[in-house]
Amino acid sequence: MAYEEPITDYDHIVENCTCAFCGCNCDDLTYLVKDGHVVGVRHACRLGASKVMEDMDQRLMVPMIRDDNGKLVEVDWDSALDKAAELIAGAVRPVFYGWSETSIETMKYGLELGELVGAVLDNQATICHGPSLQAVQNAGYPVMTLGEVKNRADMVVYTGNNAMNSHPRHLGRYSTFPRGYFRKRGRFDRTVVTMDPRYTDTAKMSDIWVGFEQNGDYEFYNAMRAVLRGKKLKKDIISGIPKEDIEELVESMKNVEFGALFFGLGLTHTLSKQRNIDIAISLIQDLNKFAKWNLIPMRGHFNVNGFNIFMAYEMGFPYGVDFSRGYPRYMNGETNTIDLLTREEPDVFMVIAADPGAHFPGGANRHLANIPVIQIDIHWGPSTELADIVLPGSFIGVEAAGTSYRMDGVPIYMKKAIDKPETCRDDEWIVNELLKRVQKIKGVDAKMASK
Ligand code: SF4
Repeated sequence: MAYEEPITDYDHIVENCTCAFCGCNCDDLTYLVKDGHVVGVRHACRLGASKVMEDMDQRLMVPMIRDDNGKLVEVDWDSALDKAAELIAGAVRPVFYGWSETSIETMKYGLELGELVGAVLDNQATICHGPSLQAVQNAGYPVMTLGEVKNRADMVVYTGNNAMNSHPRHLGRYSTFPRGYFRKRGRFDRTVVTMDPRYTDTAKMSDIWVGFEQNGDYEFYNAMRAVLRGKKLKKDIISGIPKEDIEELVESMKNVEFGALFFGLGLTHTLSKQRNIDIAISLIQDLNKFAKWNLIPMRGHFNVNGFNIFMAYEMGFPYGVDFSRGYPRYMNGETNTIDLLTREEPDVFMVIAADPGAHFPGGANRHLANIPVIQIDIHWGPSTELADIVLPGSFIGVEAAGTSYRMDGVPIYMKKAIDKPETCRDDEWIVNELLKRVQKIKGVDAKMASK
C-alpha cells in the first residue's frame, strides 16, 4: 500500500462522530472538515472512512422522475413528493423496504405511513440475519454487550463470519485486542477461535482455526453438543473435522471464565439457515452449565438492528410486518420482501437507504422493473436504474443526526457534523412529508391519525 501523507489542510475537526457503515457503530471517529466537506477521517477503518468521505460524483443531488422516454429527469421537490404520495396512496399492496441505513426517527414516520396505507414494512434482515431473529424466537437469546466482551472475555469465537473484512475494527475495539478490566493484557489474555470453511483473514488472527466443510455447520454444532453432554461420537470425522479435535475444542470451551461467540452469514445463508442458529444458541445454553457464555449476531448495517428493535417494540414483530389487514401480521415466507416480489404481489415499492438492485436475486428484481419504485437514498446505485421517482436524502451521522442501535442492542445517538447539499432533504423530513401528503389524499386528519 502506498504511503499517504496525513491531511493537515482543514478548517476544523468534529470529534466523537459515529460511523454509519457496519454494526460496530464505532463512535470514536474524528472528522476533518474543510469548506463544509469531510476531507479526512481519523480512527475509522477503510470501509468506514471511504463511506464518510463520500464520493460526490455518485451523490444523488436532485429529485427526479422517470419520463415517458425512460429517462430520469430533474423535477422540483413538490412534484416529486406529490407523485410519490399519489402512488403510495393508490397502491393495493405497497412494500416499504430498507431502513437499515437511516435513523430511528425516520422509521417512526415510515411506520405511521405504512399503517395508514396497509403496507408491508421490511428491512435488510430479510436477506441477512432474519434466520437469526427466527432462531431467537425459537430458542432464546443469550446476548451480551460488547463492553462485557471487552472487559471479561477470555475466549472469543467467530463462526461463519470474517470480521476482519466485514467489521474491520471489531477485533481491535471490542473482542480481541483491547485491554479490559479483567483482561489487562488484552490479546494475551484471550484465546481466539475461528470456525469457518475458509482460512479467512480472521482465521489468520486466531489461535485456533476449525475449517469444517461448507454446509457442515449443523452437524458440527450437533457433535459439539453431544460431546458436551458426555456422549461418545460414533463417526471419526464430522463435517471434515477429526472427532479428537472436536473433543479438545469442547474441553477448552468448558474451561473459560467468559466465552463470547459471534456468528455471521456463514450460518444464516447456508443449508438449514435458522436451524444452524437454533443449534448454536442451544450450544451456548449447554455451555452455560460449565462456564459463562453468550453470543451476538454480527449485524451488518449500522442500524439494521435498530429497525428490528424499533418494530418489535412498536408492533411486536421485528421485520416483514404486514399491515394490509389493518393490524400487524408477521409470517416468514409470506410477508418478507423477497417472497412478495417473487410472487409478484407488490404494486408499489418504496426503497429507503438500501440497494435491492445490487443485492436482491434476479427474480425479485424482475418484478421491481415492472412496478413503480420510489427511491430515497444518498447515492446512485443499481436501484436508481429501477427507480421511477428519486428523492435525495441526507447522510445520517455526517449531515443529519439520528439514533441507531449497535449489533448488541446498545442505542447510539449519531451527531451531525456538516450541512447537507442545499438541494437534498433529511430522510426524516422526506418520509414525514410523504405521510402528510398521503393523509391529505386520503382525507385523514393528521392530528387524529397520530392519536
Ligand atoms: S468497523 Fe464498522 S463501524 Fe467501525 S469504522 Fe469500520 S465500518 Fe465503521
